[in-house]
Amino acid sequence: MNIHEYQAKVILAEFGVPIPPWILAANGEEAAQAFEKLSVPVAVVKAQVHAGGRGKGGGVKLARTAAEAAAVAQGIMAKPLVTPQTGPQGVRVNQVMLTPAVEIAHEYYIGMVLNRTKACPMVIASAEGGVEIEEVAKKSPEKIFSELCDPVLGLYPFQARQIAFSLGFTGPVVDVAVKILQGIAQAYLQYDCTILEINPLVLTKSGELLALDSKISFDDNAVYRHESLYTNMKDETEIPATEIRAKQIGLSYVSMDGNIGCMVNGAGLAMATMDIIKYAGGQPANFLDVGGGVTKDQVREAFKLILSDARVKAILVNIFGGIAHCDVIAEGVRNAVQEIGLHVPVVVRLEGTHVEEGKKILETSTLNVITAIDMKDAAEKVVAAAQRVVAEQPIGN
Ligand code: ADP
Ligand code: MG
Repeated sequence: MNIHEYQAKVILAEFGVPIPPWILAANGEEAAQAFEKLSVPVAVVKAQVHAGGRGKGGGVKLARTAAEAAAVAQGIMAKPLVTPQTGPQGVRVNQVMLTPAVEIAHEYYIGMVLNRTKACPMVIASAEGGVEIEEVAKKSPEKIFSELCDPVLGLYPFQARQIAFSLGFTGPVVDVAVKILQGIAQAYLQYDCTILEINPLVLTKSGELLALDSKISFDDNAVYRHESLYTNMKDETEIPATEIRAKQIGLSYVSMDGNIGCMVNGAGLAMATMDIIKYAGGQPANFLDVGGGVTKDQVREAFKLILSDARVKAILVNIFGGIAHCDVIAEGVRNAVQEIGLHVPVVVRLEGTHVEEGKKILETSTLNVITAIDMKDAAEKVVAAAQRVVAEQPIGN
């Protein structure tokens, strides 16, 4: 689960990380008031959305007067914000943060991630901050420093000092950096984070270290340990409606950018299905694992969910019936189509438990399904079907 920059700042401040003051605003008037309250010559107005790369997308702007703060805030909230991380449709901005513009001498990156190979949390740091750390890692890996962090005892002082020296800090700033590094490690462990980043951590011209941007993701499997914190910080406007609906139905669903809807059982088969669709030249619109003990009502709702996505031009139902029964799946699909109709071609590949019964249900229904004999055949057929639908559509759709 992701949270907003301002929420991450509340958490980081709890662990002694120096954060500049900030105020939220949900409209121009509030932004003007926030500017007055900050009482600084220049403020930064920052879109509060879960996606990063806001600076590049016009979601981080300066304001020098209250009127300018109002205009800038209105401008940012007036239309969806498109950043390198949002996709071309962008995301809605409901709130902005106003915070003093600081005079930056240098930008650093510090963060915590899980090192899966070592099965251990890890601090990552670089003196090349402000930019995407993935780019630095690709182009100049020698500029990235890391230390594994004891999952119980946290980051040892000598490890934090080692990183502070590697970043080039000297004098009293070293001690401040050590506190910040130990603080982020503690926050990461205490709140079961999967990612915690401060990018940039800046050294100001007056020699202060400040966290200007922050990002935290929590581990969804740890919700029960931080129920109220996670619930308070959850922002459902940032989660696609289809994903919220899928969660209510009890299914694992991730929305993607393509136009081929997928209904599959088992996460491994779902991944393989997406791979083979791409291999056949198509793009999946979603990852959907209906799981093992799925009921026909869940299948019906899942199928309706796929059909509700206007981008979907063809659907692939790929089921290997083990615990899941093919006839239950077929019945769910039939019921969904009876309820809301079908406007796109459906390719079905069924194998395993109750396959004959499943096929019979589909054959005797009014559903005009295209059957496939194996995965490759299914992928090729669904990609061709989607291309046909796209080609037949009038321009502009
Ligand atoms: P994002 O990572 O989403 O682009 P950031 O908060 O990191 O958003 O802002 C992008 C850049 O804007 C920072 O790298 C920094 O150079 C500048 N910036 C952000 N906040 C401030 C601030 N309070 N004062 C001065 N510059 C800032
Ligand atoms: Mg940033």
